[in-house]
Amino acid sequence: MPRWFEDDESPECMKHDGKRLSHQARLLLKQTRRLSFHCVHCGSEVPTEASNTKHRNHCSICLWSRHVDESIGDRSSICLSSMEPLGLTIKRDGGELMIVHRCTGCGKIVKNRIAGDDNATSLVNLLDDSANLDDHTVNGLVANGIHLCLEREVVEGCIWGNGGTS
Ligand SMILES: [Zn+2]
Ligand SMILES: [Zn+2]
Repeated sequence: MPRWFEDDESPECMKHDGKRLSHQARLLLKQTRRLSFHCVHCGSEVPTEASNTKHRNHCSICLWSRHVDESIGDRSSICLSSMEPLGLTIKRDGGELMIVHRCTGCGKIVKNRIAGDDNATSLVNLLDDSANLDDHTVNGLVANGIHLCLEREVVEGCIWGNGGTS
């Protein structure tokens, strides 16, 4: 049993609240999807449309996300748990930088494009943190076809190349 299934009380009991309020939360989410949302992790107000993405569902400050999509942008998930950023990966075609998220409720792993206004320091910190992931987590990512990028130069090149000059 993967560790994250046993550990879903933390970090902010989103699973319980998410389940109880899921219908209401979904309506709210639909109403506000074009404008902004409040981060489930740090509470920041985040605009949903930013340069480089039309389906942003992760926080530009702390990079946490929320399990709202089953397919990209469909907002059809009933899970609604918070999604923890695990690390960064490079998209095979095009060399684009992606954030790897894992749902704290159901364990789903997804890749998300970074947005133009994502906090560069948070991205670099995430890169550093991802070097300390345990083998079990890394192997789980590899089983999903995801290989984390741990090369700081590559990541910084993507950040400044994509977000800084457009
Ligand atoms: Zn946040
Ligand atoms: Zn989930």
